[in-house]
Amino acid sequence: MSSAAAPPFTPTAAPPFTPTAAPRPRSRGGQRRDPRWSDWRWQAQHAITTLEQLEQAVALTPTEREGARRAIAGGLAMSITPYYASLCDPDDPRCPIRMQCVPRAEEAIEVPGDLRDPLGEEAHEVAPSLVQRYPDRVLLLATDRCAVYCRFCTRSRMVGDGGGAQSLRALAPAFDWIEAHAEVHDVIVSGGDPMVMSTGRIVALLERLAAIPHVDYVRLATRAPVTLPQRVTNEVCDAIHRAHPAAWVMTHFNHPKELTPESLIACARLADHGLPVMNQTVLLRGINDDADTLTSLFRGLVRARVRPYYLLQMDPVRGTSHLRTPLRRGIELMERLQGRLSGIALPKLIVDTPGGRGKVPLGPDTIVSERAGVTTLRTFRGELVDYVDPP
Ligand code: SF4
Repeated sequence: MSSAAAPPFTPTAAPPFTPTAAPRPRSRGGQRRDPRWSDWRWQAQHAITTLEQLEQAVALTPTEREGARRAIAGGLAMSITPYYASLCDPDDPRCPIRMQCVPRAEEAIEVPGDLRDPLGEEAHEVAPSLVQRYPDRVLLLATDRCAVYCRFCTRSRMVGDGGGAQSLRALAPAFDWIEAHAEVHDVIVSGGDPMVMSTGRIVALLERLAAIPHVDYVRLATRAPVTLPQRVTNEVCDAIHRAHPAAWVMTHFNHPKELTPESLIACARLADHGLPVMNQTVLLRGINDDADTLTSLFRGLVRARVRPYYLLQMDPVRGTSHLRTPLRRGIELMERLQGRLSGIALPKLIVDTPGGRGKVPLGPDTIVSERAGVTTLRTFRGELVDYVDPP
Protein backbone atom coordinates (compact mmCIF):
# COMPACT_ATOMS: atom_id res chain seq x y z
CA MET A 1 0.00 0.00 0.00
CA SER A 2 1.39 3.41 -0.89
CA SER A 3 1.54 6.19 1.63
CA ALA A 4 -1.16 8.01 -0.35
CA ALA A 5 -3.51 5.11 0.35
CA ALA A 6 -2.78 5.13 4.06
CA PRO A 7 -5.79 5.66 6.27
CA PRO A 8 -5.85 8.64 8.60
CA PHE A 9 -4.12 8.25 11.94
CA THR A 10 -7.27 7.91 14.02
CA PRO A 11 -10.19 6.65 12.01
CA THR A 12 -12.83 7.25 14.66
CA ALA A 13 -14.18 10.50 15.97
CA ALA A 14 -12.72 9.87 19.40
CA PRO A 15 -8.95 9.37 19.61
CA PRO A 16 -8.26 6.07 21.36
CA PHE A 17 -6.17 7.51 24.13
CA THR A 18 -8.11 10.61 25.03
CA PRO A 19 -9.38 9.82 28.50
CA THR A 20 -12.88 10.78 29.41
CA ALA A 21 -14.45 10.76 32.85
CA ALA A 22 -13.73 7.14 33.64
CA PRO A 23 -16.08 5.01 35.65
CA ARG A 24 -14.68 3.07 38.54
CA PRO A 25 -12.45 0.58 36.70
CA ARG A 26 -12.91 -2.59 38.73
CA SER A 27 -15.76 -4.35 40.34
CA ARG A 28 -14.90 -3.42 43.93
CA GLY A 29 -17.94 -3.60 46.15
CA GLY A 30 -19.81 -5.69 43.60
CA GLN A 31 -20.00 -2.94 40.95
CA ARG A 32 -20.81 -4.42 37.54
CA ARG A 33 -18.52 -3.99 34.59
CA ASP A 34 -19.48 -1.64 31.82
CA PRO A 35 -21.16 -3.52 28.95
CA ARG A 36 -18.54 -2.10 26.59
CA TRP A 37 -15.75 -3.81 28.54
CA SER A 38 -14.76 -5.99 25.55
CA ASP A 39 -14.38 -3.00 23.22
CA TRP A 40 -10.68 -2.05 23.06
CA ARG A 41 -11.46 1.54 22.17
CA TRP A 42 -13.69 1.84 25.21
CA GLN A 43 -10.85 0.41 27.31
CA ALA A 44 -8.41 2.89 25.80
CA GLN A 45 -10.73 5.84 26.17
CA HIS A 46 -11.40 5.01 29.82
CA ALA A 47 -7.82 4.44 30.87
CA ILE A 48 -6.93 5.80 34.30
CA THR A 49 -4.91 8.95 33.86
CA THR A 50 -5.83 11.12 36.86
CA LEU A 51 -5.21 10.85 40.57
CA GLU A 52 -8.94 10.83 41.27
CA GLN A 53 -9.50 7.87 38.95
CA LEU A 54 -6.57 6.02 40.49
CA GLU A 55 -7.88 6.67 44.02
CA GLN A 56 -11.13 5.01 42.98
CA ALA A 57 -9.36 1.93 41.68
CA VAL A 58 -6.93 1.19 44.52
CA ALA A 59 -6.37 2.27 48.11
CA LEU A 60 -3.25 4.34 47.45
CA THR A 61 -0.29 4.45 49.81
CA PRO A 62 1.38 7.83 50.38
CA THR A 63 4.30 6.82 48.13
CA GLU A 64 1.94 5.81 45.30
CA ARG A 65 -0.04 9.03 45.67
CA GLU A 66 3.16 11.03 45.48
CA GLY A 67 4.32 8.95 42.49
CA ALA A 68 1.05 9.55 40.66
CA ARG A 69 1.25 13.28 41.33
CA ARG A 70 4.76 13.39 39.89
CA ALA A 71 3.81 11.28 36.86
CA ILE A 72 0.88 13.54 36.05
CA ALA A 73 3.01 16.64 36.56
CA GLY A 74 5.48 15.60 33.88
CA GLY A 75 7.23 12.34 34.76
CA LEU A 76 6.67 9.08 32.89
CA ALA A 77 3.01 9.33 31.91
CA MET A 78 0.40 7.27 33.74
CA SER A 79 -2.23 5.27 31.90
CA ILE A 80 -3.90 2.08 33.14
CA THR A 81 -6.67 0.40 31.16
CA PRO A 82 -9.74 -0.60 33.20
CA TYR A 83 -8.90 -4.21 32.30
CA TYR A 84 -5.34 -4.02 33.68
CA ALA A 85 -6.54 -2.06 36.71
CA SER A 86 -9.02 -4.88 37.38
CA LEU A 87 -6.06 -7.23 37.85
CA CYS A 88 -4.59 -5.02 40.60
CA ASP A 89 -5.22 -5.93 44.20
CA PRO A 90 -6.81 -2.69 45.49
CA ASP A 91 -5.63 -3.34 49.03
CA ASP A 92 -2.12 -4.69 48.50
CA PRO A 93 0.58 -2.26 47.34
CA ARG A 94 2.91 -5.25 46.76
CA CYS A 95 0.50 -6.69 44.17
CA PRO A 96 2.71 -7.62 41.17
CA ILE A 97 0.34 -6.02 38.68
CA ARG A 98 -0.09 -2.85 40.69
CA MET A 99 3.68 -2.48 41.04
CA GLN A 100 4.04 -2.53 37.24
CA CYS A 101 1.55 0.22 36.53
CA VAL A 102 1.02 2.46 39.57
CA PRO A 103 3.71 5.15 39.88
CA ARG A 104 5.71 5.41 43.10
CA ALA A 105 7.66 8.25 44.67
CA GLU A 106 10.87 6.22 44.18
CA GLU A 107 10.71 7.10 40.47
CA ALA A 108 12.22 10.44 41.46
CA ILE A 109 15.35 8.73 42.82
CA GLU A 110 18.39 8.49 40.57
CA VAL A 111 21.29 6.22 41.52
CA PRO A 112 24.78 5.93 40.00
CA GLY A 113 24.54 4.06 36.71
CA ASP A 114 21.01 5.27 35.93
CA LEU A 115 20.59 6.43 32.36
CA ARG A 116 17.93 8.38 30.52
CA ASP A 117 18.48 6.33 27.37
CA PRO A 118 20.07 3.10 28.65
CA LEU A 119 20.38 1.40 25.27
CA GLY A 120 21.88 4.41 23.53
CA GLU A 121 19.04 4.48 21.02
CA GLU A 122 19.36 8.16 20.30
CA ALA A 123 23.05 7.72 19.50
CA HIS A 124 22.17 4.84 17.14
CA GLU A 125 19.41 6.64 15.27
CA VAL A 126 20.11 6.33 11.54
CA ALA A 127 16.96 8.11 10.36
CA PRO A 128 14.12 9.75 12.25
CA SER A 129 12.45 7.07 14.42
CA LEU A 130 14.82 4.37 13.13
CA VAL A 131 17.49 2.81 15.36
CA GLN A 132 20.20 0.44 14.23
CA ARG A 133 22.25 -1.37 16.88
CA TYR A 134 23.02 -4.58 14.94
CA PRO A 135 24.03 -4.98 11.30
CA ASP A 136 21.03 -7.04 10.17
CA ARG A 137 18.10 -5.46 12.03
CA VAL A 138 16.54 -2.13 12.85
CA LEU A 139 14.04 -0.79 15.33
CA LEU A 140 11.22 1.37 13.98
CA LEU A 141 9.54 3.57 16.59
CA ALA A 142 6.05 3.91 15.14
CA THR A 143 4.29 5.67 18.01
CA ASP A 144 4.87 6.99 21.51
CA ARG A 145 1.52 5.72 22.84
CA CYS A 146 0.87 2.69 25.01
CA ALA A 147 -2.28 1.35 26.63
CA VAL A 148 -0.48 1.15 29.96
CA TYR A 149 2.75 2.96 30.78
CA CYS A 150 4.94 0.38 32.51
CA ARG A 151 6.88 1.88 35.37
CA PHE A 152 10.07 0.10 34.25
CA CYS A 153 9.92 1.17 30.60
CA THR A 154 13.28 1.40 28.84
CA ARG A 155 11.87 4.23 26.71
CA SER A 156 10.45 6.24 29.58
CA ARG A 157 12.28 9.22 28.04
CA MET A 158 9.87 9.29 25.12
CA VAL A 159 6.71 7.20 25.64
CA GLY A 160 3.51 9.12 26.24
CA ASP A 161 5.06 12.43 25.31
CA GLY A 162 2.08 13.37 23.15
CA GLY A 163 3.50 12.76 19.69
CA GLY A 164 1.07 9.96 18.82
CA ALA A 165 1.39 7.57 15.92
CA GLN A 166 3.76 8.52 13.12
CA SER A 167 2.27 8.97 9.69
CA LEU A 168 3.74 7.01 6.79
CA ARG A 169 4.92 10.31 5.43
CA ALA A 170 6.82 11.06 8.64
CA LEU A 171 8.34 7.58 8.49
CA ALA A 172 9.31 7.89 4.80
CA PRO A 173 13.01 8.64 5.55
CA ALA A 174 13.12 5.52 7.73
CA PHE A 175 11.64 3.37 4.94
CA ASP A 176 14.04 4.94 2.43
CA TRP A 177 16.97 4.11 4.73
CA ILE A 178 15.85 0.48 5.08
CA GLU A 179 15.39 0.21 1.33
CA ALA A 180 18.92 1.47 0.77
CA HIS A 181 20.47 -1.05 3.20
CA ALA A 182 20.16 -4.56 1.83
CA GLU A 183 21.92 -5.98 4.88
CA VAL A 184 18.80 -5.29 6.97
CA HIS A 185 16.64 -8.41 7.12
CA ASP A 186 14.58 -7.84 10.26
CA VAL A 187 12.50 -4.83 11.30
CA ILE A 188 11.18 -4.57 14.84
CA VAL A 189 8.14 -2.30 14.87
CA SER A 190 7.89 -0.84 18.33
CA GLY A 191 7.28 2.45 20.09
CA GLY A 192 5.29 2.90 22.31
CA ASP A 193 3.02 0.07 21.38
CA PRO A 194 2.15 -0.24 17.67
CA MET A 195 -0.97 -2.28 18.48
CA VAL A 196 -2.67 0.80 19.93
CA MET A 197 -2.62 2.28 16.44
CA SER A 198 -5.62 1.83 14.17
CA THR A 199 -5.74 -1.39 12.15
CA GLY A 200 -5.45 0.64 8.94
CA ARG A 201 -2.28 2.28 10.22
CA ILE A 202 -0.72 -1.05 11.21
CA VAL A 203 -1.59 -2.61 7.87
CA ALA A 204 -0.20 0.32 5.87
CA LEU A 205 3.06 0.16 7.79
CA LEU A 206 3.43 -3.61 7.39
CA GLU A 207 2.56 -3.49 3.71
CA ARG A 208 5.19 -0.83 3.20
CA LEU A 209 7.77 -3.10 4.84
CA ALA A 210 6.55 -6.15 2.90
CA ALA A 211 7.37 -4.25 -0.30
CA ILE A 212 11.08 -4.15 0.63
CA PRO A 213 12.49 -7.43 -0.75
CA HIS A 214 15.45 -7.82 1.62
CA VAL A 215 13.30 -7.45 4.76
CA ASP A 216 12.68 -11.13 5.46
CA TYR A 217 10.48 -10.74 8.50
CA VAL A 218 9.05 -8.12 10.83
CA ARG A 219 8.34 -8.20 14.54
CA LEU A 220 5.52 -6.30 16.19
CA ALA A 221 6.58 -5.51 19.75
CA THR A 222 3.41 -5.12 21.79
CA ARG A 223 2.07 -5.45 25.31
CA ALA A 224 -1.53 -5.45 24.05
CA PRO A 225 -2.07 -9.16 24.85
CA VAL A 226 -1.13 -8.29 28.45
CA THR A 227 -2.60 -4.85 29.09
CA LEU A 228 -5.29 -4.52 26.41
CA PRO A 229 -6.16 -8.05 25.19
CA GLN A 230 -9.44 -6.75 23.77
CA ARG A 231 -7.32 -5.15 21.03
CA VAL A 232 -6.29 -8.57 19.71
CA THR A 233 -9.38 -9.12 17.63
CA ASN A 234 -9.73 -11.70 14.87
CA GLU A 235 -9.93 -8.79 12.46
CA VAL A 236 -6.57 -7.26 13.43
CA CYS A 237 -4.83 -10.67 13.55
CA ASP A 238 -6.10 -11.45 10.07
CA ALA A 239 -5.09 -8.01 8.82
CA ILE A 240 -1.56 -8.33 10.20
CA HIS A 241 -1.06 -11.76 8.71
CA ARG A 242 -2.32 -10.60 5.32
CA ALA A 243 -0.23 -7.42 5.38
CA HIS A 244 3.05 -9.23 6.03
CA PRO A 245 3.50 -12.94 5.41
CA ALA A 246 6.33 -13.18 7.95
CA ALA A 247 5.06 -11.07 10.84
CA TRP A 248 5.95 -12.22 14.35
CA VAL A 249 4.57 -10.84 17.59
CA MET A 250 6.88 -10.08 20.50
CA THR A 251 4.96 -9.65 23.69
CA HIS A 252 5.77 -9.02 27.29
CA PHE A 253 4.14 -11.02 30.08
CA ASN A 254 5.90 -10.56 33.40
CA HIS A 255 3.72 -12.40 35.90
CA PRO A 256 1.36 -15.42 35.85
CA LYS A 257 -1.44 -13.18 37.13
CA GLU A 258 -1.40 -11.62 33.66
CA LEU A 259 -2.42 -14.95 32.09
CA THR A 260 -6.14 -14.29 32.34
CA PRO A 261 -8.94 -15.79 30.23
CA GLU A 262 -8.90 -12.59 28.12
CA SER A 263 -5.15 -12.63 27.53
CA LEU A 264 -5.20 -16.36 26.74
CA ILE A 265 -7.85 -15.73 24.10
CA ALA A 266 -5.65 -12.98 22.65
CA CYS A 267 -2.65 -15.35 22.48
CA ALA A 268 -4.77 -18.10 20.92
CA ARG A 269 -6.06 -15.70 18.27
CA LEU A 270 -2.55 -14.66 17.31
CA ALA A 271 -1.37 -18.27 17.06
CA ASP A 272 -4.51 -19.37 15.21
CA HIS A 273 -3.92 -16.65 12.62
CA GLY A 274 -0.42 -17.90 11.90
CA LEU A 275 1.40 -15.27 13.93
CA PRO A 276 4.24 -16.80 15.98
CA VAL A 277 4.31 -15.25 19.46
CA MET A 278 7.46 -14.81 21.53
CA ASN A 279 7.62 -13.40 25.03
CA GLN A 280 10.21 -11.22 26.73
CA THR A 281 9.93 -11.12 30.50
CA VAL A 282 11.73 -8.39 32.43
CA LEU A 283 13.11 -9.52 35.76
CA LEU A 284 11.53 -7.19 38.32
CA ARG A 285 12.35 -7.00 42.00
CA GLY A 286 9.44 -8.00 44.23
CA ILE A 287 7.32 -8.84 41.19
CA ASN A 288 8.72 -11.95 39.54
CA ASP A 289 12.21 -12.52 40.95
CA ASP A 290 11.55 -15.96 42.36
CA ALA A 291 11.74 -19.39 40.74
CA ASP A 292 8.18 -20.48 41.49
CA THR A 293 6.66 -17.37 39.90
CA LEU A 294 8.82 -17.68 36.79
CA THR A 295 8.13 -21.41 36.51
CA SER A 296 4.40 -20.79 36.61
CA LEU A 297 4.68 -17.94 34.11
CA PHE A 298 6.82 -19.80 31.58
CA ARG A 299 4.73 -22.99 31.75
CA GLY A 300 1.56 -20.94 31.33
CA LEU A 301 3.01 -19.18 28.30
CA VAL A 302 3.95 -22.42 26.56
CA ARG A 303 0.47 -23.75 27.28
CA ALA A 304 -0.80 -20.61 25.51
CA ARG A 305 1.53 -21.35 22.55
CA VAL A 306 3.75 -18.41 23.43
CA ARG A 307 7.48 -19.14 23.49
CA PRO A 308 9.34 -17.67 26.49
CA TYR A 309 12.22 -16.13 24.60
CA TYR A 310 14.16 -13.77 26.84
CA LEU A 311 14.36 -13.18 30.56
CA LEU A 312 15.78 -9.67 30.53
CA GLN A 313 17.93 -8.12 33.19
CA MET A 314 16.26 -4.78 33.66
CA ASP A 315 17.89 -1.88 31.85
CA PRO A 316 19.30 0.80 34.17
CA VAL A 317 16.61 3.33 33.31
CA ARG A 318 16.64 6.37 35.56
CA GLY A 319 14.15 6.19 38.38
CA THR A 320 13.75 2.40 38.35
CA SER A 321 16.36 1.23 40.85
CA HIS A 322 13.60 0.13 43.24
CA LEU A 323 12.48 -2.42 40.63
CA ARG A 324 15.90 -3.74 39.59
CA THR A 325 17.59 -6.92 40.78
CA PRO A 326 21.36 -7.47 41.03
CA LEU A 327 22.81 -9.22 37.96
CA ARG A 328 23.67 -12.26 40.08
CA ARG A 329 20.00 -12.83 40.98
CA GLY A 330 19.05 -13.67 37.40
CA ILE A 331 21.91 -16.16 37.13
CA GLU A 332 20.83 -17.85 40.38
CA LEU A 333 17.28 -18.08 39.09
CA MET A 334 18.40 -19.61 35.80
CA GLU A 335 20.38 -22.17 37.79
CA ARG A 336 17.19 -23.14 39.61
CA LEU A 337 15.07 -23.23 36.45
CA GLN A 338 17.54 -25.29 34.42
CA GLY A 339 16.33 -28.89 34.51
CA ARG A 340 13.09 -27.86 36.15
CA LEU A 341 11.65 -26.51 32.90
CA SER A 342 11.77 -28.08 29.46
CA GLY A 343 13.81 -26.31 26.80
CA ILE A 344 10.82 -24.70 25.09
CA ALA A 345 9.76 -23.13 28.41
CA LEU A 346 13.20 -21.88 29.40
CA PRO A 347 14.15 -18.43 28.07
CA LYS A 348 17.65 -17.07 27.65
CA LEU A 349 18.82 -14.71 30.37
CA ILE A 350 19.98 -11.55 28.63
CA VAL A 351 21.62 -8.33 29.72
CA ASP A 352 21.37 -5.56 27.17
CA THR A 353 24.62 -3.72 27.78
CA PRO A 354 24.31 -0.03 28.66
CA GLY A 355 25.10 2.33 25.82
CA GLY A 356 23.59 0.10 23.16
CA ARG A 357 26.60 -2.17 22.69
CA GLY A 358 24.44 -5.25 22.31
CA LYS A 359 22.88 -8.11 24.23
CA VAL A 360 24.96 -10.57 26.23
CA PRO A 361 23.52 -13.94 27.27
CA LEU A 362 24.21 -14.97 30.85
CA GLY A 363 23.82 -18.31 32.55
CA PRO A 364 25.03 -20.53 35.35
CA ASP A 365 28.68 -21.48 35.13
CA THR A 366 28.37 -25.10 34.03
CA ILE A 367 31.98 -25.67 32.93
CA VAL A 368 33.93 -26.75 36.01
CA SER A 369 37.30 -27.46 34.37
CA GLU A 370 38.92 -28.05 30.99
CA ARG A 371 42.05 -30.14 30.43
CA ALA A 372 43.52 -31.93 27.39
CA GLY A 373 40.26 -32.54 25.56
CA VAL A 374 38.27 -33.35 28.69
CA THR A 375 35.70 -30.85 29.93
CA THR A 376 34.05 -31.37 33.29
CA LEU A 377 30.47 -30.14 33.34
CA ARG A 378 28.08 -29.61 36.22
CA THR A 379 24.54 -30.88 35.58
CA PHE A 380 21.36 -29.35 36.95
CA ARG A 381 21.53 -31.95 39.77
CA GLY A 382 25.03 -30.78 40.70
CA GLU A 383 26.73 -33.94 39.41
CA LEU A 384 30.10 -33.53 37.72
CA VAL A 385 30.34 -35.28 34.36
CA ASP A 386 33.31 -35.43 31.98
CA TYR A 387 32.75 -34.76 28.30
CA VAL A 388 35.62 -36.14 26.19
CA ASP A 389 36.35 -34.47 22.84
CA PRO A 390 37.14 -36.70 19.86
CA PRO A 391 40.91 -37.25 19.36
S1 SF4 B 1 4.19 -1.13 26.65
FE1 SF4 B 1 6.39 -1.24 26.18
S2 SF4 B 1 6.90 0.78 25.37
FE2 SF4 B 1 4.93 0.98 26.44
S3 SF4 B 1 5.43 1.62 28.52
FE3 SF4 B 1 5.27 -0.62 28.54
S4 SF4 B 1 7.39 -1.33 28.20
FE4 SF4 B 1 7.29 0.84 27.57
